[in-house]
Amino acid sequence: MPERSTASSHELWRIALPILAERIGPATYGFLRDIQPISCDDDTMVLGVPNQFAKAWLEERHSGLIGATLGEILQHQGPIRVEMRVSAQPPIPDPTPTLAPPPAPAPELVATAKTAPTGDFYAIPLNAKYTFDNFVVADCNRFAHAAAIQVAKSPGKSYNPLFIHSKVGLGKTHLMQAIGHMVKQQHANARVVYISAEEFVNQLITSIRDNRNDEFRRRYRTVDVWLVDDIQFIASIEGPVSEEAFFHTFNTLCQTNKQVVIASDCPPRHLQLMNERLRSRLDMGIVADLRYPDYETRIAILEKKAQSEGTSIGRDNLELIAKSIESNIRALEGALLNVCAYASLNAVELTPALVEEIIAPYRAHSEEKRVALRDIVDYVSSVLACSKENMLGQKRSKDIVWPRQVAMYLGRELTANSLAEIGRYFGDRDHTTVMHAYEKVSRLIATDEATLWLINDMKSALRGS
Ligand code: ADP
Ligand code: MG
Repeated sequence: MPERSTASSHELWRIALPILAERIGPATYGFLRDIQPISCDDDTMVLGVPNQFAKAWLEERHSGLIGATLGEILQHQGPIRVEMRVSAQPPIPDPTPTLAPPPAPAPELVATAKTAPTGDFYAIPLNAKYTFDNFVVADCNRFAHAAAIQVAKSPGKSYNPLFIHSKVGLGKTHLMQAIGHMVKQQHANARVVYISAEEFVNQLITSIRDNRNDEFRRRYRTVDVWLVDDIQFIASIEGPVSEEAFFHTFNTLCQTNKQVVIASDCPPRHLQLMNERLRSRLDMGIVADLRYPDYETRIAILEKKAQSEGTSIGRDNLELIAKSIESNIRALEGALLNVCAYASLNAVELTPALVEEIIAPYRAHSEEKRVALRDIVDYVSSVLACSKENMLGQKRSKDIVWPRQVAMYLGRELTANSLAEIGRYFGDRDHTTVMHAYEKVSRLIATDEATLWLINDMKSALRGS
């Protein structure tokens, strides 16, 4: 087995450290921080610890978890062996001066953490919390969720690539990793690789520097599901090299029916890519967005989160948080956890004024580009060949009802209008009619590929206009 160089075992350890800090918990972080990686081959990692006590403590309690985590990063079938040695070496300067102390950064941050040069191929373990079970499905994400489920059920088969976009903190990374979890559950041997675009570029640059570009390309041929997060990073940097490398990998995988899932902070057509073919290729797949959750959804997310954290702060307080924070689910969760922490640490009664004060830093206002109902009706009438008069009128023949239902669905998805307002606009109909239309189209999207594509393309066209 080839032995990895010391630099490379440092690299491996540096990627592992924040993940271990999260998994092991803050109490042991001090011990972890003092560990010096000594060497690593494919089976065993040798770690230097400062004294006998640390050795005994870590061996007894944590070597299993450390080995398992290293195994995940190295993409082994199982854990690797961990050997602790009391090392008299003077401490080597911490290779991660910017590493945050616990609580550890979220995995997507770990993925983008600056990595020292190495030619080895590391994967970022998926966050165990980012599963479909923990994802609250609502109108703001129903389409993306349905597409993600399809992809996870039959990777590489139909929706390739899947492109998920949204503003920050709305669930892209969560949904993407949920696909990874589900694929791994169903196919234990599938190679799922989650990587941020930034980390991809880091690895690319290193491989060019070390003259190992061919190896870099070869690595990706064995990937079954490639999850690339925050692709806008590739568009934001100068020079065509990383774009080309990405395009090459992307094409290789798509052509061999491997699944590619991409997340971005904007739709493909707004990415500042120099490669026009890449942009149009991304635009041709399923493009799903995640929008701001409405009030009920925010409550549902807060309830789920409070439940999974085992905390409770009362319905009134949940409502107050849900009302105050509209545009970022991460901020919503942060506010909730802060309120819980405050309540338990200070043993105080939570008054509305106090809650307002604690959550004030998390507030931000949403502004989303909205489409007008008029534009939707114009557009649907031209694409589905149904006159506007008919769509807004009272006739109920089949060739009119379907376009009308599609337009109502898009009205609910793309505008800020309430069900009642949409009903009124479409010939003074009741809100339950709109609801029925919405549910019908949603159901079809989840079961019928043609409908999924139809709605996908219509949404892109209406948003882009
Ligand atoms: P993004 O990648 O779009 O910036 P993330 O996927 O990191 O957003 O999500 C931010 C946080 O919000 C995560 O903790 C995630 O679990 C949570 N979250 C987002 N959407 C949902 C949802 N629909 N249900 C439950 N939690 C969610
Ligand atoms: Mg993300």
